[in-house]
Amino acid sequence: MRRFLLFACLVLLPPAAGAENMPARQNIVNAPKLVEPHLSVSRSGNASRPRVALTFDACMGQADERILSVLVRERIPATIFVTARWLKKNPQAVAVFLQNLDLFEIENHGRNHVPAVDAPALIYGIAAAGSAEAVRQEVAGGAEAMLAAGFAAPRWFRGSTAKYDPSAIRQIRDMGYRIAGYSLNGDGGSLLGAAVSEKRIAAAKDGDVVIAHINQPTHAAGEGVARALLALKRRGVEFTRLADVDDLGDDGTTQ
Ligand SMILES: [Zn+2]
Repeated sequence: MRRFLLFACLVLLPPAAGAENMPARQNIVNAPKLVEPHLSVSRSGNASRPRVALTFDACMGQADERILSVLVRERIPATIFVTARWLKKNPQAVAVFLQNLDLFEIENHGRNHVPAVDAPALIYGIAAAGSAEAVRQEVAGGAEAMLAAGFAAPRWFRGSTAKYDPSAIRQIRDMGYRIAGYSLNGDGGSLLGAAVSEKRIAAAKDGDVVIAHINQPTHAAGEGVARALLALKRRGVEFTRLADVDDLGDDGTTQ
């Protein structure tokens, strides 16, 4: 397995990458300062073969077959972040993942899709975990469901909304995880149109970590995401997964 050095830092990015199923307006009440980690992989340095990591969140709801079928048919590797509640509702998609573990790295998106923030807060209108114990339950519950479904123990965590407070980040790291940020918001929390999503993802640059959603089959965005996958493949992109980055590399986060 190839391993790549990983670069990341904590920066504030435009909202809505993790805003699936939520109003667009951010609404935080008495919240601590939130961070949204940035993540990219090392560049290939080869203009004709840029390196891109595709990550998809499976938050709740259904599986988007438009995206999943292209990944399988075109043999495009990707990292999928699943919640316990999504695993429970989508046994057919889980079976597809288990049958294609050469393509899919499955990682932890939490138990109930509750933001991993250890103080009371509303993010995109949903209540954060609100305490360190609730963050622990969200993270551990996601991992337990993955193991029960037959997947390997996760190494990466991405919380609902992809936002955290610094103390929750420290806690999750202490549980043995890396925090999965991103560098390219591909579908705006699945709320963008098909053409915009396609254009954003198809324009991925060398080293980008793309975030998109694989749980909204009725949203237009997924159609564009599926088309963009084909465009990236035509461009000669080298698809990598988060597991393929260098285990010894410093992910550079500063909290
Ligand atoms: Zn999510």
